[in-house]
Amino acid sequence: MTEQKKVALVTGASKGIGAVIARELAADGFHIWLNYRSDHESARQVADQIAAAGGSCELLPFDVADAGATEAALEPLLAEQVPFALVNNAGFARDGIMAMMSQEDWEKVLAVHLNGFFNVTRLVVARMLKKRQGRIINIVSTSGESGVAGQVNYSAAKAGLIGATRSLAAEVGRRNILVNAVSPGFITTDMTSELPMEKILPMIPLGRFGEAEEVSGIVGFLCSDRATYITGQVFAVNGGVHI
Ligand code: NAP
Repeated sequence: MTEQKKVALVTGASKGIGAVIARELAADGFHIWLNYRSDHESARQVADQIAAAGGSCELLPFDVADAGATEAALEPLLAEQVPFALVNNAGFARDGIMAMMSQEDWEKVLAVHLNGFFNVTRLVVARMLKKRQGRIINIVSTSGESGVAGQVNYSAAKAGLIGATRSLAAEVGRRNILVNAVSPGFITTDMTSELPMEKILPMIPLGRFGEAEEVSGIVGFLCSDRATYITGQVFAVNGGVHI
């Protein structure tokens, strides 16, 4: 049954934006390979929600920053089926001013966002090239476009991912693989739960944080048959924050 469905691999989908993207793509008919790192209970809940809505999903816990673990988890699956869509969403932040930033916080943030993108995408795109089809969507951030004080590591990682998006789009376009980035602003998730709302809200023309459901729609569109001539682009979903 699931062999007939297209597969979408969504990283970092045990909660937050990734979980909503996974649910949306499942509702659109994709079989979901749902990656996450450590929160088994939340990932199981997302899988249950997908199943309750009539969709299908399998859980793939691994750390995208760990090349060996990524390969061990994905290679057996990739030998059987090639995902039509890959959403590189896994991420986390370790904010702090540059002068006080530890080497570890610098390296860990770059490792998850940039090495994570590399580790997963290199394996998947090699198969997509053979099939001559695929969609890759990288979740970046307003922070990587405009810069945000206290996020030098995170901004650098997301800006790097925007560059990687554009280069990969140029590299694989002839094989009908479309690569785009979606760039959320401030979205209500665990990642933003401790931010000072009173300082941030005045910067957002719509006057509120966005919801993950307001990000997932464009990802669904970019994975659909209606988005066949869009590649190398960055789509802001940020309530009008000026970039
Ligand atoms: P979140 O609620 O904190 O969820 C993060 C997800 O990523 C979790 O499923 C987590 O898994 C997973 N993850 C973290 N590190 C991982 C790793 N090394 N390997 C595999 N999975 C990993 O975050 P979110 O707010 O939804 O953010 C999702 C993406 O959107 C991130 O790339 C983030 O940078 C980006 N973004 C968020 C916002 C925002 O305002 N929230 C704005 C712009 C961009 P476990 O919990 O199971 O470990």
